[in-house]
Parts: sequence; C-alpha cells; structure tokens
Amino acid sequence: MRPIGRTGGLPPVISSIPTKRKVVFLTIDDGWEQDPGFAAQIRDQRIPVTAFAMRDAVEAKGTPDEAGGRARYVGAGKWGYFRQLRDAGVPVENHTLTHPDLRLLGRDAQRREICGAAKLIGKQVGARPTLFRPPFGVYNTDTLTAAKNCGMTAVLLWTATVQPGGKIAYQVPDKRLRPGDILLMHFRPNLARDFRVLVEKIRRRGYELGNLQAYLAAARVR
Ligand SMILES: [Zn+2]
Repeated sequence: MRPIGRTGGLPPVISSIPTKRKVVFLTIDDGWEQDPGFAAQIRDQRIPVTAFAMRDAVEAKGTPDEAGGRARYVGAGKWGYFRQLRDAGVPVENHTLTHPDLRLLGRDAQRREICGAAKLIGKQVGARPTLFRPPFGVYNTDTLTAAKNCGMTAVLLWTATVQPGGKIAYQVPDKRLRPGDILLMHFRPNLARDFRVLVEKIRRRGYELGNLQAYLAAARVR
C-alpha cells in the first residue's frame, strides 16, 4: 500500500486504491430501491461493500436519475433499510441530500448538501459518514472545501460501473479489472441477483472484494 497524498489540506479525491493485491472495492449508491434479498445476502455472507446514501432516494422523494434505474421499490423501508445494512457491517457514507450537479451550486449550497446529509445519516443510521461521493462524479474546489468542513476525509470516485445483469462497464480501454479498482453499482431492482453474478465474476478472475475502509486506513486516509 502506498499512502494516498493530499493537497492543500483538502480531502484527497480517490478513483482507485493503490494496492498490488488482487482486490477490488464495491460501492453502491443512492437508495431508490431497497431489495430485501440483498440485505439478507450481505448479512449472511459478510461481503464488504460500502453504501453511499442520498436522502431523496432513501426517502423516495422526487424522481430517480437514470443511472439509478427507473423503477422504484414501493414500500421501501426508508432509513430502516440502511440501518439493516449497517447492522450487517456496511458503512453508510455520504452522497448528498438531493443529488445535484455540485458545480452549479455556490459554496454555501454545497455545504448544505454535504453537511446536511452527514448530519442526517449520523442521526438515522447512528454513525456519521466520513467518505463523500459527489453525484455524477463531478465536483470543484468548493466541493472539496465543503467536504472537509463537513468532516469528510476523502472524496470517492470510481473506475468502473456495474450495469443491470452484473455486467461491468470499464472506463479504461482494455476492459480488465485492475488491483484497487472501485466499482460503482446502484440500489436498483434485482440488486441481489446482480450482486451474486458480479461476485462470481470477480472471483472467477482471481479477485476478491476488499474492505474499503481498511484499505483507506492503510493508505493513511482515515
Ligand atoms: Zn448517485
């Protein structure tokens, strides 16, 4: 593990974890759908994943963006689902209140989005988040300042997304997993099934899912 550097005292922006081990990290965003089968899987198998919860998704306000899938799980458990995940060992991290493009917001509005979500998650889930994922993966310097002021120790991006059916869409041309890759999935219909397919695929390629928080600690991020 190499330490992850930071500039100007701001939280580092991390797209992949600097490791040589065959390990990748799964992050799951938003919260529009709350597949109970997935929570049971995580509880039984204790596979490390990290959730980035967004208030309006978890509380089913408004319309999901397409990345998160069009469907909506009616009768979702709201924050109860994320408390279940937390009880199964899943850290619940910060993905804003309303999923804006933060570059279009001023400093104060960005701070409200990030600090508001941190406070709400702390209250609802019982542990304050320390990692921040900007919606759409876009941010500016004000975002990093706000993230810092809201207690975030790192800003997490990703190297590949997981599509419905467990298909991996890479951002690199050679379409292979690399050590330290961060995969982005969404809470959407059939998450349990897609997760099973994905975990199988990762293992077939000789990789394991790693504990993001432990690796970040080893890289001296938190
Ligand atoms: Zn999102």
